[in-house]
Amino acid sequence: MDKVKFRLTCVILVIFASSGKGQDNIVLSPLQGYEQRISKYVDSLRIIDTHEHLFDPRYLKQTNFLDFILLFQQSGYDDLISAGMPDTLFNTLFNKPLTPVQKWKIIEPYWKNSFNTSFNRTILLAFKNLYGITDLNASTVGPLSERIKKAYNTDWFDRILRDSCRIDFVIQDGSNIVGKDDYFRYSKRFESWLTVKSKFRIDSLAVMQIEPIYTLEDFVKSMRIAFEDAVKKRMAVVKINIAYKRSLSFEKTETEAARKIFRSLVNSDEGHVISNKEASPLQDYMFYQLLDLAGKYRIPVAFHTGFQAGKGNIIGNSDPTLLTNVFSAYPDINFVLYHGGYPYGGELSTLAKNYPNVHIDMNWVYSISPTYSERYLSEWIETVPVSKLMAFGGDFRCVENIYSELKIARRIISDVLCNKIREGYLSEAEARTIAKIILYDNAARLYKLK
Ligand SMILES: [Zn+2]
Repeated sequence: MDKVKFRLTCVILVIFASSGKGQDNIVLSPLQGYEQRISKYVDSLRIIDTHEHLFDPRYLKQTNFLDFILLFQQSGYDDLISAGMPDTLFNTLFNKPLTPVQKWKIIEPYWKNSFNTSFNRTILLAFKNLYGITDLNASTVGPLSERIKKAYNTDWFDRILRDSCRIDFVIQDGSNIVGKDDYFRYSKRFESWLTVKSKFRIDSLAVMQIEPIYTLEDFVKSMRIAFEDAVKKRMAVVKINIAYKRSLSFEKTETEAARKIFRSLVNSDEGHVISNKEASPLQDYMFYQLLDLAGKYRIPVAFHTGFQAGKGNIIGNSDPTLLTNVFSAYPDINFVLYHGGYPYGGELSTLAKNYPNVHIDMNWVYSISPTYSERYLSEWIETVPVSKLMAFGGDFRCVENIYSELKIARRIISDVLCNKIREGYLSEAEARTIAKIILYDNAARLYKLK
C-alpha cells in the first residue's frame, strides 16, 4: 500500500469509527444542562401516593409514641429487631409512658448495629430535613421529641403531604380518616374471608354484621356486604395481604369442595382451628368469589408481593409468579404487584410484559433499597409499557417517613431518567413524559381518582 493510499484508508477508518460511536443512540444527543432540568421537573411534579398506613393525626395525640419513636413504627422497628432487639419490647417502646431518653436507652445498642440500613437512613433524613436534628443520641432525642409534639399541634399532617410532598391523592390501607375525604381514598382487605380456618372466625363475622352465617351462601353474602360497604367508603383498590399467612397459589375450587370444608368448620367447636392446607378449598373459593366482586365493580386488585414486614415470614409465599393462573383467568381485572416485588424484580418484568392486566407498583421499595429501586426502575423502563408502572407510595405510618422516602424516590427517578438520556435511550421530552405518567397519570387512571 503506498503512503497516500494508507493515509486515505486511515482517515476513512477514523471517520467510520467516530460515526459508529453514536450509532446505537436511539435519540439525538441531549442539549446541555438536561440533568438539572430533569431533576427540577421531577421535583416539581404533583404526585399520587398509592399506598400508606397512616395513623389518624387526632389519634396520635392520645398515644404514648408521639415523640422520636413515632418514626420507628413498622420499618425502623423491624430493623432494630433484625439487629438483635427482643421483639417483646414493642409494647414498652410504643405504649408505655417512657421519656424519650428512656426509649433511646432501650434502642441505642440496636440502633448502633443498624443505623446503616435504608429503613433507618429514611428516618434520619426526616429528622434532619423536617426537625433540624442531624444525629440520634441521648442529648438529641429530647429536643427532637419536643419539636415533633409541637408540630402535631398544627396542621402538620396535611402540610407535609399536600405542600411539602405535593401529593394530590393518598391511597390509605385501612379505616377511613375523618375529614380527609378531599384527598384520601382507600385500599380495603378481605382477609377475614380469605384466611378462614375456624368456626370462631365465621361467628365473629356474623356478630360484626349482625346477621347469622349458617351456609356457604351466607358466608359469601357476608363478604359481598362488606365489599359493597367498602365501595361506598371510597375503596379505590382491593388489597390482598395474605402472603403473610399463606401462599399466593390459588386453585379454582368446586363449590361442593368449599361447602364441605365450610360445613366441617361450622359444625366444629369454637376453638377448633384447621391448617391453611386443609382450609384451602374454602379459602381459594372465597378468593375467586372476591375476584368476581372486583370484576363486577371494576375495582383493581393489588397483591403484597415479595419482602414481608416483621419477622419469620416465608418469602416463598409471596412469590408473584404463583399468580400466573389468576392473571390469565381474569383478563378484565387490573392486578397490581406491590413493593416492586422485592426481591422478585426480574419476575415482575416478565409478568408485566406477559400479561396486559398486570401492573407494577414501587411503593415502599425505595426505603427497602434505593439501589434495587434504581436498578429495577431502569430495567422496567426498558421492559414494561410505561402505562403499567406506578412509581411512588410510602407504606408508612407517619408523614415524616413519606416525606423522606419521596425525596429519595424523586432523586432516583431523576437519576434513572438522566442515565437513559445520557445513553441516548430516551429524549429529554420522553423522560419528562415518563416521570409524569409514573408519578401521577397511571395511578389516577387505574384507581379512577378525581
Ligand atoms: Zn402496606
